[in-house]
Amino acid sequence: MEKHKNLSIFVPHEGCPNQCSFCDQKKISGTQNPPTPRQVTRLCEEFLPKDEKAGQSYEIAFFGGSFTAIDRRYMVRLLEAARPFVSRGRAMGIRISTRPDAIDSEILRLLKHYGVTSIELGAQSMQDDVLKANLRGHSVQDVYTASKLIKQRGFSLGLQMMTGLYRQKDYMEYAVDTAQKFIEIGPDTVRIYPTLTLKDTLLEKLYQKGIYTPPDIRQTVKICAVLVKMFNKRGIRIIKLGLHADTGLEKSLVAGPYHPAFKELVQSYMFMEKIKRALDGRPAGRYEIYVNPSRLSQAVGQKKSNVTALADLGWSVKFVPDARVQGEEFIICEKGEIRCI
Ligand code: SF4
Repeated sequence: MEKHKNLSIFVPHEGCPNQCSFCDQKKISGTQNPPTPRQVTRLCEEFLPKDEKAGQSYEIAFFGGSFTAIDRRYMVRLLEAARPFVSRGRAMGIRISTRPDAIDSEILRLLKHYGVTSIELGAQSMQDDVLKANLRGHSVQDVYTASKLIKQRGFSLGLQMMTGLYRQKDYMEYAVDTAQKFIEIGPDTVRIYPTLTLKDTLLEKLYQKGIYTPPDIRQTVKICAVLVKMFNKRGIRIIKLGLHADTGLEKSLVAGPYHPAFKELVQSYMFMEKIKRALDGRPAGRYEIYVNPSRLSQAVGQKKSNVTALADLGWSVKFVPDARVQGEEFIICEKGEIRCI
């Protein structure tokens, strides 16, 4: 099956009634023009495949703020521009992201009519005190209610969560609790975003005053590794892990666990944990570990971090690429041992 792709169209959320602690959308909204319906048509014309079969792996995705909370007439005009491409088979559907309190039966009827197939909710946390402290303006109950309606009406449901939010007393515990509640809701997809402290946000003020201390990158990688395992176990597809690397974001960054290849860091950490478990009980010494060539950089880790961490535990490891090793598997051989695959 072809890999799922989004044609992403950014809709800055000028009318957002909120100012969440971590969000600098207001600033972005002032500098980026909202797309016109004509631009939507042009983008779809230009970037969606002409061939229907290829089109079935594409969704037209309106991202940015809270799609269902923008001016209703403008929202409908954007959908009207996108819908013909779904009808003609050049895309399998339309994907939107919005706030949990910007969903009701009437809006869902409208979205269905215009060919929307997937709805993502920016839930961010499943603890009311955290939502309140971060000025989200919606409750945990809003997430439950909106999710239920979305599923009942036959849309694909996506939930987005953030790790390391202000007022989480224990970053790991709160993240696991949110993920557990997501699992109970049963979304089709999730996105996991580490909270970053950006310029001109409430979080920046709290950080500068020493009231908010974000988790560091190592802690965040560990938290996300646990979340990945939880969602994988339940077959919930993780469609984003970490923030999209971009220079605008990097310029705005004040603090927080940002890394341009965050997902790779998590995968690499998970790989090392598996290797550590497999080596457990083996004596200190030199080992060769055979991995699929596509996993070599994950196995070695950024700046050889995995090799160093294993060496600190007494295992001097050399990773060897071997195409006969499947996927995430690996084969450990003591140096000099005859290899058998
Ligand atoms: S609701 Fe969304 S767009 Fe509005 S301030 Fe919060 S994160 Fe930003």
